Formats: sequence, structure tokens, C-alpha cells
Amino acid sequence: MGYVLTVYIIVFGGFNGLTLCEICEKRESVSTCRICGRYVCSHHIGDDGICSVCRETLCERCRRYLSIGYCKICGRYLCEDCLVQVTPVEYVCKDCYRTFNSRVLLLFLLLTYTLLLLPYLL
Ligand SMILES: [Zn+2]
Ligand SMILES: [Zn+2]
Ligand SMILES: [Zn+2]
Ligand SMILES: [Zn+2]
Repeated sequence: MGYVLTVYIIVFGGFNGLTLCEICEKRESVSTCRICGRYVCSHHIGDDGICSVCRETLCERCRRYLSIGYCKICGRYLCEDCLVQVTPVEYVCKDCYRTFNSRVLLLFLLLTYTLLLLPYLL
């Protein structure tokens, strides 16, 4: 009997909106975040269906994916889609890459390497 009751609660409990918001754990959840799938209340989800936790780690450029690193030039936290890897550990966003690509980025890299090589040249 206890088992049946448990199953009943699991199966129907969710549909009755008894699942609590996974962020505040106080209010009833109204929907799920489309990125992490968390059950969240109306206070913790935006019109775009993204929870407040994901919003903080969301790419600052496209607002579609989670950020994985930051641009070395403008410092924004961006997703894999919006970043261009310039060295094994450094990223530059696509906006900065496009703007600086031909001129400043080359100069920037040249300057870095010149400074690195300077002790050997003197
Ligand atoms: Zn909440
Ligand atoms: Zn989320
Ligand atoms: Zn992005
Ligand atoms: Zn940038």
C-alpha cells in the first residue's frame, strides 16, 4: 500500500505542480529552464525560459549558450560559439577578432613575442 501511494505521489505529484522551485525551494515551480532543465518558479525564470542561475553564466554575446571562457581583449564571458581560440589557453571573441584580426591582433601578438625575445636580443 505504501508503495502504491509513493508511485501515486511521484506520478501525479509532478502534474499537480507539487514540485518546488530548485533555486529557492520555497515556491511552486511553473516551468523548466530550457538550458539546465531545472524546475523553477515564476520568480526565477525569464520570458526567454532561462533560469536565474543560467542567466548569470550565459554567453554575453549570443545569450544562447553557457560561457566557457572570456575574451582577452574585451573581457566578456562567452560561449564556444562566440570565441576564437588564438593560443592554446587564450580566447578572443568573434567581434574583437573581426575588428582586430588584420591589424591590432597581429601587432599585439608581435609585440608580445618581441617582448619575450627582447632579453635574447640585447
Ligand atoms: Zn524560485
Ligand atoms: Zn537553468
Ligand atoms: Zn555565444
Ligand atoms: Zn572581445
